[in-house]
Amino acid sequence: MADDLYTRYMAAYRTWCEHTARCTTCTTGQPACPDGTQLHERFTRLQDAYLNRQRKS
Ligand SMILES: [Zn+2]
Repeated sequence: MADDLYTRYMAAYRTWCEHTARCTTCTTGQPACPDGTQLHERFTRLQDAYLNRQRKS
């Protein structure tokens, strides 16, 4: 079954991981540049939404 929220959450996670692999200042747990901050914020927002939904169902 298609799960749009999960797909977006995983895509955001991948994008964030790819950024930390390239970026010299960001680490996986801590964004340190403007791009990284934005990507990390998106990832954590989707993660929260996904986990909240899991808890409710
Ligand atoms: Zn960065």
